[in-house]
Amino acid sequence: MNSKIIKALIEKKGYISGEALSTELGVSRAAVWKHIEELRRKGFEIESSPKKGYILKKTTDRIDTGIIKNSLKTDFIGKNMEVFDSIDSTNDEAKRRTSANFDNGLVIISEIQTAGRGRLGRIWESPKNKGVWMSVLFNPTELEPNHGSRLTLLAAVAIVKAIENQLGDNLKNLKDRLSIKWPNDILFNGKKICGILTEMGADIDRINWLVLGMGINVLNDSEDFPSEIREIATSLKILTGQALDRNILIASILNELEELYIPFKKTGELTHFIDFYRERSLVPDRKLLIHRRGEITECVGVTVTDEGFLRVRHNDGHIEDVFFGEVSVREALI
Ligand code: ADP
Repeated sequence: MNSKIIKALIEKKGYISGEALSTELGVSRAAVWKHIEELRRKGFEIESSPKKGYILKKTTDRIDTGIIKNSLKTDFIGKNMEVFDSIDSTNDEAKRRTSANFDNGLVIISEIQTAGRGRLGRIWESPKNKGVWMSVLFNPTELEPNHGSRLTLLAAVAIVKAIENQLGDNLKNLKDRLSIKWPNDILFNGKKICGILTEMGADIDRINWLVLGMGINVLNDSEDFPSEIREIATSLKILTGQALDRNILIASILNELEELYIPFKKTGELTHFIDFYRERSLVPDRKLLIHRRGEITECVGVTVTDEGFLRVRHNDGHIEDVFFGEVSVREALI
């Protein structure tokens, strides 16, 4: 019932009378009042005026599966969703769920990660109530093992689209736009807003499970980042001055993910989203530093290929297609 009231208040975008709510939801006005009180206790700011009725001023700043599910249009992603107050890492929790007959599309979210991870064992800062620290578990039986890591690229496109759907006008007023740092980070003005970590369990010829993890800085203020990353990290709140509703953002990401994932899992091809990815990945003519097994190579970006590889030109002129694996790309400062 609470989630139906929230949905009605969000959709109305203005005052809705107690009478209209009670008719729409088929309960008494006293019951409506009781539920409104309960929502207020949960942190929703709902104002009431004797003449006009109720208006939603602010949704809860906690992650709430009821609100997420109201905006979810998916068939399988997020049908089951678990929200933790605290967890080591949402990817680790998703990986603990990969035993027999696991739940394809299970979503794990936590308000804080105590051991959030980036690639190659790096730390992902995941402060309490500030971000979207979330993982989705997939069972992509049709996908070839060497196509599994492409899910990272798909997720980057889904997340950019979801953020822009929600923040559209606010972002348009800013000087830059969201870009993708190949393969797995989303940046704004060169600062990281989101990291993506895909992990996979596979045999030689089949994928047993894929876990897609993402960390999105939503409500962080600059002081919420440790000083080592303050210069390289940013959040949607820092960019727009707006405290975005994480629940709506989560639903929107899951909707975009499923739309891209369904055609992808059949063929493993990136056809339907690689142009978007390429256009946002700002590779052409960039001076890049490739960090690989302790070695740093300077080169120039050419493009992202149809297969999702980073194509670069080395100083001696030869072209190389770099695979996601053990590589980290930095922009050269010269
Ligand atoms: P890379 O940038 O080399 O691809 P990862 O994608 O694995 O590295 O991300 C981990 C790195 O991101 C950390 O080493 C740190 O520099 C940075 N980082 C950690 N937490 C955050 C965060 N919440 N927001 C932005 N950047 C972060």
